[in-house]
Amino acid sequence: MEFTLDIALIRQTLKRELQDARADIGRDGPISALARALTRQDQAIRAAKDADLLACRPGCDWCCHFTIDVRAAEVFTIRHFVDRQFTDAAKARVYAEVRANSQLFASMSEEARATQNVKCPFLVDRQCSIYPVRPQSCRNYHATDAVGCEQSYQDPENQDIDPEFAPEVYQLGLSHVEAFSVALREAGYDADVYELNGAFAAAETLPEARLLFDSKIKPFSGLIGEEPDLQFDDLLP
Ligand code: SF4
Repeated sequence: MEFTLDIALIRQTLKRELQDARADIGRDGPISALARALTRQDQAIRAAKDADLLACRPGCDWCCHFTIDVRAAEVFTIRHFVDRQFTDAAKARVYAEVRANSQLFASMSEEARATQNVKCPFLVDRQCSIYPVRPQSCRNYHATDAVGCEQSYQDPENQDIDPEFAPEVYQLGLSHVEAFSVALREAGYDADVYELNGAFAAAETLPEARLLFDSKIKPFSGLIGEEPDLQFDDLLP
């Protein structure tokens, strides 16, 4: 689907979110700052002019079988939520699924991984079991017709499916993610992008991972993240 970028909207969003994220990270650290950034991101998406066109509904879970990107700050936020909210049996199930998925992904090429459906370990009975702390990338789904999402699920190797989406939601959501990444990186924290299962498996086997992250050291040794590929880099203030 073609659309024209709203440059003024993106610039304004990047500038405001960057200011807020820098202030929050400097004052309270990256984990508390992320919690506030998630709230702002949700508010911005809800206020988008085309938000009421979104097709995303409880029980619609096609996108929860695609590759999910996370940053270390999100991994520690979700782990904290799981530790506090999940029963021991639910934790054991999640981590078993995380380990199985990460082993599967480790045996695949990047291309094969991008063209295979794998259920997110946090998807339970077609609902997100970590909804309040779900990753930023999950908050940014912007499809206006779930038929396209279902087509991508049914035919994961077909990269030409181009579902209809809400342009303002897309631009606002991505501006928030990118501004927070830049603020994290500027402050010296790991802002790399990791595949969700691999990052959780790494965090589970490294008790000191959170301490490393807080000390501004990449926390998932043996797991290579990717520098964020910023789409709006040239619009940053
Ligand atoms: S974290 Fe939640 S919203 Fe995101 S893919 Fe998993 S189940 Fe879906």
